[in-house]
Order: sequence, then C-alpha cells, then structure tokens
Amino acid sequence: MRKKIVAGNWKMNTSIAEGVELAKGIVAKVNEISKGVSLIVAPPFTHLTSVAEVLKDSPVALSAQNCADQPKGAFTGEVAASMLKDAGCTYTILGHSERRQYYGENSEKLVRKMALAFENGLKVIFCVGEKLEERNEGRHFDVVASQISEVLFGLTPKQMAHVIIAYEPVWAIGTGVTATSEQAQEIHAFIRKTLAAHFGDDVADNTTILYGGSCKPSNAKELFACPDIDGGLIGGASLKVDDFIGIAQSF
Ligand code: PEP
Repeated sequence: MRKKIVAGNWKMNTSIAEGVELAKGIVAKVNEISKGVSLIVAPPFTHLTSVAEVLKDSPVALSAQNCADQPKGAFTGEVAASMLKDAGCTYTILGHSERRQYYGENSEKLVRKMALAFENGLKVIFCVGEKLEERNEGRHFDVVASQISEVLFGLTPKQMAHVIIAYEPVWAIGTGVTATSEQAQEIHAFIRKTLAAHFGDDVADNTTILYGGSCKPSNAKELFACPDIDGGLIGGASLKVDDFIGIAQSF
C-alpha cells in the first residue's frame, strides 16, 4: 500500500527562529492527523540542523529543497547530499519547477543528483509539471512523460521505492489557481500508467504521487479524494501550522 504524505516546502522563507517555531507547532499537532498520513517539512539549508533537533523524537521527517550534483569539493555555494544526511534529512526535493526555471536544473543534472541522494541514503521527492503554455498547447502529457522518463527510467525498481513524485503544474504554483481535481487526477493516472509501462504494476501501485500547486485546506479534501492523488506538496500553506495540519486532515 502506498503512503499518504503531506510535505511542506518552505522555500526561501522564515528566519531560523521562525522555522523552529513552525516545526514545534507542527510537532505539537501531529497527533491530530490520522496515523496513516506522514508529514515531511523542507526548510531552507541554514535551518536544517535546528529543525532536525525539534523533529528528532517525532514522526515528522526532514527534507532539503535541493542537493548538489557533485559529491564534494570545489563547488562554491553548493550543499552535498552527504551533508544533508549529516544534518538529519531523510529526503531531498529534486527538480522543483523553481529550480528548473531559475537555476538551469535539467534532467542531466537531476540524474546525477538523484544518484548522489540514493548513495547517501536520502529519499527523493521528484517534481514534475508543465508550464501554462505547454498545457494550452495540449503538450502537458508529453512534457510530464519526458520529465519522468529522462530521470526515473534509469532507476531500478528498488530505487523507485525511495522516490515520491510530486505533480506540480507550474501555472498553479503560488498563483492561487489550483488544478481542478479532474485535471489533477487525469495526469496522476497518466503518471501511474507511465510508471506501470516501464517498471510494472508493482512499482506503479506503490509509488506515492503528490499534487502541488495552491493546495490549501479548502481544496485539499476534493483533491485527496481522487484515487491517484496520494497527498500534497505544499508551498505557501505549509508556513502556517493550522493550514498545514488542516491539509493533512483532509484525507
Ligand atoms: C510548491 O512550490 O511546491 C507549491 C506547491 O507551492 P504553492 O503551494 O505555494 O503553490
């Protein structure tokens, strides 16, 4: 049975003190969500060790938002997967559309990052999703299929057990416009079918596929009721304890 997950991507928000408070607030309310739902938070790099300390005796897992595509050495400004593991991370997000759009993240780099994440015992939240013009041109299925095949098809079924996919249509991220549950379910089912065709039904059935893009307590219930939507990757609404917990209570 695949896991139900709600993950909070804090992006470049909060001071360390605010992040610690946010994490404490989430931990304090984690028993208000169903046992079958797992929570992950992804603070900025500078907050990881402080937030790890808050999460240490709780079921809430820690994620980074990115990792380097090199193992170590002269790569100024980068943070290696081994360092994230050392800081207490269980996960890293990879391929977020903001990384793809502003920092030249492409499939070639993502393949290297993914390998380093696994070598260092990290699981990966792998983001895919089309831009508005790609959807308007009817290319969203092709775009998502390429993002998946270029990075995930080189993995073994065993490695796929450490991958969560987040479908995040770029036009819905931070815009207040959410994909309708029909639009989201359609592409989640397509992603699962794409996984099944390459890896077989077992991998496809066991892979958690999250929806991301202006998800909030008021729309999470309808989205999470869809058969192929296993939770959410949450940006803005993950910065407020009650909203984040409210979304996790929406299953
Ligand atoms: C995200 O960036 O992962 C995201 C889903 O953002 P938001 O919820 O703010 O749209």
